[in-house]
Formats: sequence, structure tokens, C-alpha cells
Amino acid sequence: MSKGAIIQRSMTGAQTATWQHELKQAFRSVSELCEFLALDNEIIKHSCAAANTWQLRVPQGFAACMEKGNPDDPLLRQVLPQAQELQQHTGFIADPLQEQQQSPAKGIVHKYYGRVLLIAASECAVHCRYCFRREFDYAEHRLGRAQWREALDYIRNDGSISEVILSGGDPLLLDDEYLSSLCNEICTIAHVRRLRIHTRLPIVIPQRVTAELLKMLAGLPVQAIMVVHCNHANELSDAVQQALKSVTQAGITLLNQSVLLAGVNTQAGSLVELSLRLFECGVLPYYLHLLDPVQGAAHFASDSQAASELVAEMSRQLPGYLVPKLVREQAGLGAKQPIAVAID
Ligand SMILES: *Cc1c(COP(=O)(O)O)cnc(C)c1O
Ligand code: SF4
Repeated sequence: MSKGAIIQRSMTGAQTATWQHELKQAFRSVSELCEFLALDNEIIKHSCAAANTWQLRVPQGFAACMEKGNPDDPLLRQVLPQAQELQQHTGFIADPLQEQQQSPAKGIVHKYYGRVLLIAASECAVHCRYCFRREFDYAEHRLGRAQWREALDYIRNDGSISEVILSGGDPLLLDDEYLSSLCNEICTIAHVRRLRIHTRLPIVIPQRVTAELLKMLAGLPVQAIMVVHCNHANELSDAVQQALKSVTQAGITLLNQSVLLAGVNTQAGSLVELSLRLFECGVLPYYLHLLDPVQGAAHFASDSQAASELVAEMSRQLPGYLVPKLVREQAGLGAKQPIAVAID
């Protein structure tokens, strides 16, 4: 696509900036994104084979937060397919969390006491190259409108479940009507006291945070919690900041989880800045995840000793409430595994 066509496309986007429009306009090819960022063809060559295994997808607003001409931009690194993805590494496998085996009903992942994941959507607005669900069989677990009956029955029949977590994919890709009926249906189950939404949409397409969405969530008869996923302070554009503030203003508890990613956020200064900037938008840090060893993501890995030292440094510089819990997810355990952080 020519530069002219890209500029034309962005202008159209600005005029009718609904979230659906932003989703449709997302970059879906390495060459388009590289042209937009003024990056040279060398990158495209290395990127293309990996893009064939899982397509590039980057909303334009997220791309606009990247530095032009910088192949090492921390946002670009999260989304640009890399030749390294195609290398095999011992221990990096398709389903490191064994979620496929923890699914007692279609669309449900039940690993922890009192909380279930409901795989409500099969797609994301952005394709994060390190994603532990990149190999997840969504087609198998996706709940169509007519199919949540079985999943809801599972929740209804287990009185120990007090929190339902809408996950995916990204549950905020569901349209308002579908989402509203799903949420309200969940809330008819007497033992469900909290509804949590795990989403990256407020970060990558902030237009998704509409007044109608907030009204629906705030009006639910149970407490609503939103956990967003932001890895770097550069992701917090003005539009993202506004969207996040509006979530907390609506009375919804807002938390953030990040993944520790080599070449993206493995410096204490970067993580400190992220916590500070998030808090200015009303977001509290929740988890900092060690990378799950999913096939194709080994080049993002950092070891737990280095991670622990990073969080120790954060603890020295920040109030306790701005230090995320450093965790790793391990198949077979009853909760996420905290990683010890020693302050000296
Ligand atoms: C992370 C996760 C949860 C939620 O765990 P919290 O510690 O409550 O955030 C629930 N179910 C699964 C399968 C998870 O991976
Ligand atoms: S938004 Fe979340 S689930 Fe979707 S690709 Fe990124 S990390 Fe994976």
C-alpha cells in the first residue's frame, strides 16, 4: 500500500473513530506497518516467514505510539513477527499451561479455587508475539451465542465459584449487546459475586471504552473488575489515559498486568515509569508475569533471578502499592507461583 493510501486511511479513521472501525483498519501486514514506521525492507524480509504462522495485527493507534524509524521500539517488538519465532527451543511448547486439559466444559478453564475463566471471545485486536494463548485452540473453545448454556450451567452447578473472569481472546471484542446479555446472565447465578474482565482493548483501541460499556458494567448487580494489559509507558497515549480514567470514574476497579519481555521492559526504570504513569490514570499494578514458555517466544524470556532483582529495584523506588507481584504460571498449581524478591 502506498504512503498516500495509508494517510488517507488514517484520516478516514479519525473521522469515524468507532472501535469497530479501528479494528477493521488495524495493520495486518508487515510491509504496511513498516512503511508507516519508515522502517527498511531488511526487517520485512526477516519478518515474513514468522508472519505466515500467525498474522501480524496492530491497531493504528498502537502503531502511532511507536517511534518512527526505530526497529527496536519497545511497542514494535511486542507485535512484529521475528525470524526467531520459528526456532525450536527446549521447554518452549504449544500449551505450556496445559489449559486444554483443565477445561471441564466448553469455553471454561477452571484451575483455581473460586475463579473460572470463561473464554468468551476467540480473537484479539492485537497479536502479541509472546502470547501464551497463541497456540490455544479457540475454535474448539469459543462460545457462540447459542453455546454458553453449558458453560453457565457448569458455573451454576459449582457453588464454590465466586468470580467469573471473562477472557479470550479479548472479551471486549464482543459487541455491547452480546456482552451485556452474557454479563447479566452470569449475574443471575447467586454465588457469583464478582465479574472480572481481562482485556487489552483499552490499551490498543481505547475507543472501545464507550459510555454505554461503562454504564453496563457499572450497573451490574455484582462488583466489576477490569484487568488491562500494558507493558510499557509508551502505550499510554492521551486517548488511552482518558479511557482508563473513565473506567475508574465509573466505579470499576482497574488493575494492570504486564509480562516481563526482553527488549521491551526489562529495565527497572521502564517498569517504574509504567507503574507511575498507570497510577496517574487510576490503575494499580497487579501482576508482573514471567514469560510463559510458549513455542516461538523464547527470545522474550528473562530468567527469574534477573526478574527478581528488577522488582527489588522497583520496591526501592516506589510505594508498595505500585509494585506488581512477580509471578510465574505453573501447570498443576492452585495459584500463580510468586517469585521471591529479596531487598538488600
Ligand atoms: C490467572 C488465572 C486466574 C486468575 O487468577 P488470579 O490470581 O485470581 O488473578 C484464573 N484462572 C486461570 C486459569 C488463570 O490462569
Ligand atoms: S491481547 Fe492478550 S490474549 Fe490477545 S494476543 Fe495479546 S497477550 Fe494474547
